[in-house]
Amino acid sequence: MVTQVGPRPFPFLPGLYLLPIGLLVNGAPGGTMDSVMKITFLGTSAAWPTPQPGCHCPQCSEARADGRLRRTRSSLLIESADEVVLVDPGPDVFHQFEREGLEPRVDRVLVTHSHADHVLGLGDLERLRADRKHVLRVHAAAYHRKRIGEIFPYLVDERDPRIVFEVWKPGTEISLEGIRIEGFETGHRARFPTAALLMHLHTPDGMRRVAYATDMGELPDDSRERLEEIDLFVGDGTFLGGEGHGHPGTDAVLALGAELDVEKVAFTHVGHVQVDDAGLRERLGEGVGLAYDGGNLLDLLP
Ligand SMILES: [Zn+2]
Ligand SMILES: [Zn+2]
Ligand SMILES: [Zn+2]
Repeated sequence: MVTQVGPRPFPFLPGLYLLPIGLLVNGAPGGTMDSVMKITFLGTSAAWPTPQPGCHCPQCSEARADGRLRRTRSSLLIESADEVVLVDPGPDVFHQFEREGLEPRVDRVLVTHSHADHVLGLGDLERLRADRKHVLRVHAAAYHRKRIGEIFPYLVDERDPRIVFEVWKPGTEISLEGIRIEGFETGHRARFPTAALLMHLHTPDGMRRVAYATDMGELPDDSRERLEEIDLFVGDGTFLGGEGHGHPGTDAVLALGAELDVEKVAFTHVGHVQVDDAGLRERLGEGVGLAYDGGNLLDLLP
């Protein structure tokens, strides 16, 4: 029997994202927060989605039987009262919007780096915009702009540009209603920079700081210095345990979280770890968060 999509670990209700954050976090209207914000994990897989065709490992088999455990390519959708920002348009972007019942509205895009799992949906996303009168604003580092232009020459054609690049470098800040997004640099490895996000969230409980860093094989010292008083570090779950190629293993992310005195560590960009969900949670340890497709990042806050 093919997978049926069942109830999600973090249930998505159409229209829920229009509620104030207080309702989402506390279950009741909260505090002084009057802006609207939801941060959805559109996807939570590493470079290849789960399940993988032909694979019958515990992880893939379980995901086939329980749609809540299916994972598509990692992406975040940040919805504030004034703007919708998509982080990393991967190849599943059409499916992700349809699955979540989302309106095709994206005001700008942040690209962490130009690997296929993070940019291949850019062409689809340009088509997905409800209002195609305006070019799509894409923040990407210079190194990755060039590669995006090589993948999608028609999107950057000067005679009819469909996307316009905006600056993305360490320290770049984007201010939305209720959230300030700051860029910090990481790297798969030397000379392959990746961007990560430090989000400053205005919540009814005060200012909360969330770091989102997938594909982080390296963390330069000046980036590390920015990571003070982090409430939630959402890190790279490509490899369970030890280190992989250009990615930290989950052990390294947990160790970094401890070094930085992060209140809570959670994982996205989950790889083909070949253990079932309960086994993965057990390996990660108590108090460690795990993101699922369709989940709200705010629900992971400690
Ligand atoms: Zn990736
Ligand atoms: Zn498998
Ligand atoms: Zn990558």
